[in-house]
Amino acid sequence: MDRETDLKQGESVLTCGIVRDLLPFYREKITSVVTAEMIEKHLEKCATCREALEKLCWQEEQKEQEERARGRNFQKKLLSVKYQLLGFLAGLLVPVVSLLLPTVLSLVSGWLFGLL
Ligand SMILES: [Zn+2]
Repeated sequence: MDRETDLKQGESVLTCGIVRDLLPFYREKITSVVTAEMIEKHLEKCATCREALEKLCWQEEQKEQEERARGRNFQKKLLSVKYQLLGFLAGLLVPVVSLLLPTVLSLVSGWLFGLL
């Protein structure tokens, strides 16, 4: 069957129900070119399916925005945990260094005086 025959036959086969079932795939551009053209022809004539497509696009945009917001919140939480960990490590470092510094200094000075 050639493309024109496909399109002509498809026009008569595509009901509103079938078009609405296909709209998510059409929106994601994962239908065949012929199917997309059949849907477009149907949409030119059918206001109800056009509205269904607009509604679907709006819903998908809302979902994408929510997911982006969720992703941003997760990054913020991750950053906050990172800074808390850095603060904890810095807090741990101060007593360790203050305990070890006199020992290290006495070892170094002993070694230096041993050389002289
Ligand atoms: Zn329709």
